[in-house]
Amino acid sequence: MTSKKKQTVGRYGPRYGRRTKKIIAAIEEKQKQKQICPYCERHTLKRVCAGIWKCKKCGVKFAGGAYFPRSNIAKGE
Ligand SMILES: [Zn+2]
Repeated sequence: MTSKKKQTVGRYGPRYGRRTKKIIAAIEEKQKQKQICPYCERHTLKRVCAGIWKCKKCGVKFAGGAYFPRSNIAKGE
């Protein structure tokens, strides 16, 4: 199982294992997609920083998952 895809995970350096990189790559792939605001249900949700999300539409700011507004990533895909 070799993956020579050069993705954004490269910047994390070699200290992270291949498995971690794979997970991060999957997360970042999803992060490229716009997140849906749980309040107004528009695709205007933006991650301010890890765990903080802000909606451009209704202006709501709330804490959520570090990578996604709802931390359901642990359940796997
Ligand atoms: Zn909203």
